[in-house]
Amino acid sequence: MLVNYLGANGQVRCVGVDSLEVLKNAARIHSTSNVATAAFGRTLTGALILTRHLKNKDDILTLQIRGDGPLGGVVAVTTSDCKVRGYVINPDVTLPLKDGKLDVGGAIGKGNITVVKDFGLKEPYVGSVPLLTGEIAEDLAYYLAVSEQIPSLISLGVLVKGNEVLASGGFMIQPLPNTDEEIIVELEKRSMSFPPVSQLLYAGATIDDVLNDFMRGFSMERLEEVETSYACNCSRDRIIGVIASLGKDGLAEIIEDDEGAEVKCHFCNTAYYFNTDELKKINDELE
Ligand SMILES: [Zn+2]
Repeated sequence: MLVNYLGANGQVRCVGVDSLEVLKNAARIHSTSNVATAAFGRTLTGALILTRHLKNKDDILTLQIRGDGPLGGVVAVTTSDCKVRGYVINPDVTLPLKDGKLDVGGAIGKGNITVVKDFGLKEPYVGSVPLLTGEIAEDLAYYLAVSEQIPSLISLGVLVKGNEVLASGGFMIQPLPNTDEEIIVELEKRSMSFPPVSQLLYAGATIDDVLNDFMRGFSMERLEEVETSYACNCSRDRIIGVIASLGKDGLAEIIEDDEGAEVKCHFCNTAYYFNTDELKKINDELE
C-alpha cells in the first residue's frame, strides 16, 4: 500500500510504501537469493514512491540500477496506479554479510541509476546519475537532487530471514519549495537517527505509523491511499511483437530449425510457446 501526506502545514510531501506483498510475489516469481531480494525490494519500493511524481493515469516509470557487481542490476517498472513489475539480472547471487547486513551495495557495485518517465509522448524523459553507494536509497536521493533538483530524504528497507520476506517498505520526505529552513534542518537531523523502516514494519507499525512518527510534532494531512501490486501486462500479442522484432533474417533461422520457439517474459517468467507454423505466420505478416 502507498500513502501520501502533506506535512507541516503543506510544506513537506511525505510518501510511504509498505511493499511486503509486492516483494513476496516478486521474490517467489524470480526465485531471488537473500541479497537479490533485498535489492529487488528496495528498487520496487523506490519506483512506487516515485510514482507520486507522475501526473497522468497512463504514465509509466522505470527505475533501473546497473552495476559492475555480481548482481548485474535491478529494474522496476510501475504504472502511476502502482502496478509494479521488475527483474534482477542475476537473481541467484549470494554474498557474505557485511557488518551483519545483506551487502546490497557490494552486490550492485559501481554503476548508474536511471529513471525513465514515459508520458506517452514521442520521447520519454530520461535522467541518470552515477551510483553513490549502490544501497539504492542514497542513490535515489542523489538522483533526485542532481537530476531533478528535488531535495529528498529517502529510506528503503527489506528484512529477510532464510527465504522468507519479513518486511519491505520505504518512505520519502520532501520539503516543497519555500519550506522553512528550521523544518528542513530538523527533518535532516531526525533522518540520522530514525530506526530502519523494515524493522518498524516488522515490529507491527503500519506505514502510516512510520510517517507520522517521523513527522511527530508537525501537522499531517492524509491525501490518498493507493493499493500496490506486483502485476505484469504481458500477453501473447506482445510476445509476437518481440518475435517480429527479430526481423526476417532472425526468424528464418528459427523456422529452419523447426523446433518452435519458447519466449519467457522477463517480468513474470510466463513462457509462451510458438510452433513452426505460427512462426511462419508471424514471418508472413512481416512485409
Ligand atoms: Zn509477464
